[in-house]
Amino acid sequence: MAGSTPRVGVLALQGAFREHVASLERLGAEAFEVRTPAELEGVDGIVLPGGESTTMDLLLGSSGLREPLAQAIAAGIPVFGTCAGLILLARDIEDGIEGQRSFAALDVTALRNGYGRQVKSFEGPVELAAGGVPMTGLFIRAPRITRVGDGVEVLARLGDEPVAVRSGSIMAATFHPELTDDDRLHGTFLEGIKNTSGG
Ligand code: GLN
Repeated sequence: MAGSTPRVGVLALQGAFREHVASLERLGAEAFEVRTPAELEGVDGIVLPGGESTTMDLLLGSSGLREPLAQAIAAGIPVFGTCAGLILLARDIEDGIEGQRSFAALDVTALRNGYGRQVKSFEGPVELAAGGVPMTGLFIRAPRITRVGDGVEVLARLGDEPVAVRSGSIMAATFHPELTDDDRLHGTFLEGIKNTSGG
């Protein structure tokens, strides 16, 4: 797709997928909702949105999307997971429900509801490793990254804690950049797509 508009599929089984489509479109990408294996064909990138990872895990099975998504991730198609999407990508999940699966593609440990069940939502200043003014991070029953594997780059922190990371073609954030109009992390993701496809 060198030089052309990136086509990004946003997993739309559940959660905040529309907002990701809007963020990506603001940056000039072609973004569309993915609910079936056929809709995944020919994508240049994939977004796994926030929502509820245990529900998404079930719906991945019933939609038939688990296997094609796993194959796309293994093939190196760039993926951006936010919140529940990060949990779906994490190699290890702490406090998951019995039998909860993940694609285990990103070498981190994600602690579900890591700020406590009572703390439903909070806002915090997220410092980007790339510099610039802090992003407003919206943390909604957010996971916490409790272990960062070798070779995993920290893209953003809240205080001392990593809240956005990247490893190879996989990017993930514990918060919801799609719920603000600060599109910098989506921009980083689209840059990655450009580099992957040699554009
Ligand atoms: N706590 C949710 C989960 O375990 C994630 C919340 C979110 O995506 N906003 O999947």
